[in-house]
Amino acid sequence: MYKISVPITTFVLETYGTETVLEELKKLDCERLFLCPSSEGLFNNKRDEEFERLEKYCHYFQEHGFEVGMWIWTYYFKGECDYVRLTSPFGQKSATQICAADLQYRKVMGKILQDGARCGFDLIMFDDDFRYGFHDIGFGCCCENHLRMMSEHLGESVNLETIRPFLLGGEKNKYRDAFVQANAKAYVDFAKAMRNYVDEINPDLRLGFCACITSWDLDGTTPDRIAEILAGKNKPFYRLIGAPYWGAQRHWGTRLAENIEMERLEATRRWNANIEIFSEGDTHPRPRFRVPASYLEGFDTALRAAGCADGILKYALDYTSDPATENGYRKAHEKNRDVYEKINELFDDKQSIGVRVWDKAAKYADMTIPEKKENSCNIQDTAFSPAIKMLTCCSMPITYGDEFTAGVAFGEDVKAVPPAMLDSGLILDLRACEILMEQGVDVGIEEIGEYQTANTEHFFEPNNYVRIDNDSQFRAVKLKQRASVESEYHCGKNDYPATYRYTNANGQRFFVFCFDAYFNSESLFRMYPRAIQIAAASEWLSGEKMPAVCFGNPDLYLQVKRNGKRLAIGLWNFSADAIDEPIVSLGLSGTVTKTIDCDAESNGNDVVLSPIPAFSFAAVEVEFK
Ligand SMILES: [Zn+2]
Repeated sequence: MYKISVPITTFVLETYGTETVLEELKKLDCERLFLCPSSEGLFNNKRDEEFERLEKYCHYFQEHGFEVGMWIWTYYFKGECDYVRLTSPFGQKSATQICAADLQYRKVMGKILQDGARCGFDLIMFDDDFRYGFHDIGFGCCCENHLRMMSEHLGESVNLETIRPFLLGGEKNKYRDAFVQANAKAYVDFAKAMRNYVDEINPDLRLGFCACITSWDLDGTTPDRIAEILAGKNKPFYRLIGAPYWGAQRHWGTRLAENIEMERLEATRRWNANIEIFSEGDTHPRPRFRVPASYLEGFDTALRAAGCADGILKYALDYTSDPATENGYRKAHEKNRDVYEKINELFDDKQSIGVRVWDKAAKYADMTIPEKKENSCNIQDTAFSPAIKMLTCCSMPITYGDEFTAGVAFGEDVKAVPPAMLDSGLILDLRACEILMEQGVDVGIEEIGEYQTANTEHFFEPNNYVRIDNDSQFRAVKLKQRASVESEYHCGKNDYPATYRYTNANGQRFFVFCFDAYFNSESLFRMYPRAIQIAAASEWLSGEKMPAVCFGNPDLYLQVKRNGKRLAIGLWNFSADAIDEPIVSLGLSGTVTKTIDCDAESNGNDVVLSPIPAFSFAAVEVEFK
């Protein structure tokens, strides 16, 4: 069952009344409401009034049949205070965040939770500032409490100056281990303390949190572990991270299809199937002038098709304006209600197939930090998967499951590839090659040289020159003789291998990009011939054609799922241009059995669809002979 939760502020309820909100929630098929108090209000002398309001609205919506949660910032505190601030490896203190290790702050937050529990809430959720990375200071924490915990862990006294070079550069080392251990301890202890405070008032209350970008990595723990502790004896839950507003506003350079895949990837990291997870359908800061409803609906429909989450936190109401002013998100939801049903019918009984993305969630402690990224907090950007970026740019169907054509492993992610999988064909970048070479695997490289830049990449088959941005970097490599170069970089007088295929003496096949995929430019991926090249490479690596591809349409996002002889293909056109003649090429010929929002007919191994307008969705089901 896919549950819809919707957040709303007490400000909106106070200012415009409950009636409009109630009506909007019903039309949104909402079952669970999260009430967001003013964050400052919980700490100052208006505290009692804020809790009175929360209690009033909690009861009101419960009486109308909703499950009601309270949703609050975890460590956000602006202004003067004696709490210990989150601190970077440079000693810089956050203007807005308190460190989880501060015992004084834990007491204050514990009392806030107890007052929330007294209001009668069914759930309380901490927001996604439950994280040690992506803050105003970069990442942390290196506060006095953290330094003490690290010293205890190491059995030696450390200070900022002595550990900084180890946290921000070089190879895996004990100081980085101690740092993530301290982060984990702070979060685990905080979570335990919060559960204990809630248990004193209501042991049945479900306490959970919003996972964030660093939750699987430098926070030193996992969302599953934190959610289990916060839950106590109840069903654990957490919200995923990766929202449609990122794509709409290009946060961290991401695009909508990547945001969707980031959530799919996170869902695969859940180890306890009993934990409830829901996606972040966030349209921050609203209204549609900032984030169009198409982004939210594209996100929602795609994650319904993927079937990886138990629901969505659908930010369909404005936090500030009269709900009657911005009802475009709700109208788009109502318009799609039939489509949701059809998506369930078409996709629910099938498993995703495509190119397998290998993922090592906890990278930071084990990695060799690239020289160009040393001495800054930018290393946290490894939370964004370039494999996802590349495959979504090329409209390639992605899977994280057991049924796949070739696999992709870039950089540190190659450490997550089981050795036996080296025999089933891998797409690699140069950093992944270096790691495999250190393990004695022959990937076809004689020597890796200096970083270079190029203006164009030349594809041989079919012949095509493509411009690339000058912020993209590759490395000059000398290849073994048997390597077959597939494209070249042109830079001035010299040409260098850009991509190559290689089969080693053990029969292991690799398709290699001669660049480091992390910390590089997306212009290396956003090109027509790249998609054709990857599909061909995938077939060469695995001996199997891609199940379905659709070339030539920038920002077309594909999902493919299979059950026996039936294949479901979802096409989301996330471009401002219509796709006038979508042609899906199948690995096997089949006949069209169902469609959603399109006409489609088979033509040999192709399926020809009716036009897909900008920011629209279509799907077909094909049955093989
Ligand atoms: Zn700290």
